[in-house]
Amino acid sequence: MRYVIIGSGVAGMSAAEAIRSVDGAGEIVMVSEDPHGYYSRPGLAYYLTGELPDKALYLRSREDARKLKLTFLNACVTRILRAEHALELDGGKSRLTYDKLLIAVGAQAVPLQVTGANLQGVVKLDHMNDARSILSQARRGRTAVVVGGGITALELTEGLLARGMKVIYLLRGDRYWGNVLDPHESQIVEKRLAEEGVSLRHHADLAEILGKGGKVAGVRLKDGQTIRCDLLAYAIGIRPRMELVTEAGLDFERGILVDEHLQTNDPDIFAAGDVAQAFDPLSGRAVLDSLWNPAREQGHAAGLNMAGRRTAYLKSAPFNVTRLAGLTTTIIGAVGHGLDEDVFGIARGDSETWRDLPHALVAQSGFDVNHMRLLVGEQTLVGAVLMGDQTLSWPLQKMVAGGADISSIRDKLLAPDAPIADLIAAYWMEWRKQIAL
Ligand SMILES: Cc1cc2nc3c(=O)[nH]c(=O)nc-3n(C[C@H](O)[C@H](O)[C@H](O)COP(=O)(O)OP(=O)(O)OC[C@H]3O[C@@H](n4cnc5c(N)ncnc54)[C@H](O)[C@@H]3O)c2cc1C
Repeated sequence: MRYVIIGSGVAGMSAAEAIRSVDGAGEIVMVSEDPHGYYSRPGLAYYLTGELPDKALYLRSREDARKLKLTFLNACVTRILRAEHALELDGGKSRLTYDKLLIAVGAQAVPLQVTGANLQGVVKLDHMNDARSILSQARRGRTAVVVGGGITALELTEGLLARGMKVIYLLRGDRYWGNVLDPHESQIVEKRLAEEGVSLRHHADLAEILGKGGKVAGVRLKDGQTIRCDLLAYAIGIRPRMELVTEAGLDFERGILVDEHLQTNDPDIFAAGDVAQAFDPLSGRAVLDSLWNPAREQGHAAGLNMAGRRTAYLKSAPFNVTRLAGLTTTIIGAVGHGLDEDVFGIARGDSETWRDLPHALVAQSGFDVNHMRLLVGEQTLVGAVLMGDQTLSWPLQKMVAGGADISSIRDKLLAPDAPIADLIAAYWMEWRKQIAL
């Protein structure tokens, strides 16, 4: 049996480990165009700021790969030839056959569609080579312009700031990450950015990147204003990598559609991670995530299924613990609304589920760095945002994901000036006993 995995991200690596846990003899081949193999993509942000060396991002050693008996091929898959159970590599230079195939090709940055987008000094943050390219171009004392929303735009801002650049952050709308954060939360982030020395410009729509000698020299905005800069970093959203899928005739919408076994409409082909669009019980729709944990869990379930151990993947409430302008922030379940003018589709470290504002009321507390917002449904908590103090992060993740029945404290949570942290903490102590956590 030959298992082929396209992609060396967390979904691909988890699948390889799961396959090997069931099938000790089968051949596992991982094909990836990324020469750096498997590493932490969220960790790239800390590499940019200088908090982590690049070697800290590699999560498996050569010895681990050897134990897995994994063959790594550094190549680009250019076609899936379903009828022949084969892959075309590097535009036809070679071929590889498979018995079971996993597509775990992830997502990539939505490109900037403005004049000058090809100039040297226009950067994004998808993978290790992007991070290295940014570091090689960042210059102390020079100016960078950042465009986009969500977590990655902030990571770029903070990385460039940490490298001594002056950063001008352009927002098309009137506040940061308007479809996930509420106005108060956006304000907390923007205030901290301003304190760090970032110059924020609202309602600033990029029209053109200006160049000199093939390099970035500035930007022109739609209102005619020009800003001189040496680097332009963008993070305006991501898109699942669908190049292989459309031609192969697999079912897709915004990502590859998979059932609860991560199987596509071809029984020998599975998909997992950022490229897969899986059913979300919370919203009742098949949604896209760009989150490490769901990618890892999907890869694991896909691997087990490929190796013949039927396992359903049960998606739970998406959550992310991240850093926004230096402030640890947890986002859980459905918390947002509408569209974000700065992001097309979803961003890195984001989930479509977060955009949903279901039938829920808001309870919140804390108006400075320690802030908590709860989305309170009829009987359950459907989402939460915690900034600063993270004491209740884990309990809230468990309560949202586990559908804890909060009817007994619902009215108290929604009362004016309710001590919601105390109410949740007390409820949690009882609930965890009931479910034996
Ligand atoms: C800067 C950054 C910050 C992030 N922050 C967070 C965060 O705070 N929290 C969080 O939960 N998640 C975060 N994420 C997202 C998280 O890293 C992803 O959800 C996760 O890595 C997805 O894993 P994956 O295996 O699906 O895809 P990927 O990790 O994208 O791996 C896809 C692999 O497929 C390869 N590939 C693609 N096409 C081909 C082809 N045709 N042939 C061969 N190989 C191919 C690629 O080279 C790559 O190795 C962040 C990501 C980035 C980049």
